[in-house]
Amino acid sequence: MPELPEVETVARQLEPELEGRRIERLEVYDPRWSRPVPPEQLGDAVSGATITGLGRRGKYLLLGLDGDRTLVMHLRMTGNLVLVEGEDVIDPAEGRTLYLGERTSSERHLRARFVLDDGRELWFTDPRRFGEAFLLDDADLPLRFSRLGVEPLSEDFTPEELGRVAAGRTAPLKSFLLDQSVIAGVGNIYADEALYRARLHPLSPAGSMKPEHLAALRDAVVAALEAGIDAGGSTIDDYRDGRGEKGMMQEKFLVHTREGKPCPSGDGEVVRIVVGGRSTYFCPECQVRLRRKPKRRRPARRAK
Ligand SMILES: [Zn+2]
Repeated sequence: MPELPEVETVARQLEPELEGRRIERLEVYDPRWSRPVPPEQLGDAVSGATITGLGRRGKYLLLGLDGDRTLVMHLRMTGNLVLVEGEDVIDPAEGRTLYLGERTSSERHLRARFVLDDGRELWFTDPRRFGEAFLLDDADLPLRFSRLGVEPLSEDFTPEELGRVAAGRTAPLKSFLLDQSVIAGVGNIYADEALYRARLHPLSPAGSMKPEHLAALRDAVVAALEAGIDAGGSTIDDYRDGRGEKGMMQEKFLVHTREGKPCPSGDGEVVRIVVGGRSTYFCPECQVRLRRKPKRRRPARRAK
């Protein structure tokens, strides 16, 4: 499932290719992609627009359009946004080169297609169809994203900010990191990798972190995400970058999906547990389980 590094990789690759291009037309093939807006209505609104940029907020892709509008896209579980050009088309679902006209799994899974003024096409493919898109006026973006947490690669993401949002929380650190209203863009992969880097046990209560833990976790989240971006993202199942290529981060995981393998520190073995319904990988030797802070005495409740 694409997380921040995967979405960031797509945005960085495609922005220079798309900026200034005119969208001749947007064809939406799947009503689920645009719902509740009918496919033709979204297609008509976007057709003819000039692209002003491609950015990211959390796991959302933001395609800037003239007229101060943004087409917001979310890849969800299996979505890919891939630039297709010329005779040689890399099939994002199969990871191989094929020829225009050849029936491919990408075509079967094509949800929307942007035809650009230079003849190239931008394909949104999505086998499981959870991906979505919606068009907003730029002025409405802050409200739409008001419940998203801090951007972990921004300077707003400090140990103090992490301490502020963690204060009083009893949720395990793993679930805390997955909560998009806390930190935007971290998912199952990078939460495991960050907790290992910070040497913190995934079941530690979020509110139990001391200043040194907050500093370590802040640095670890940033380092894990940057490693993911440097490797072009992770491809465990379906993810492909903006050119249809697989990411390489899955070759470099420290603990994620490495159950039974030796811990990279040489000390202990990676184990898998389930936290909040999600597979969670960590090293019990290296990652410290913090204790819950003693509860403050609550003021006496009114007798019933
Ligand atoms: Zn270890």
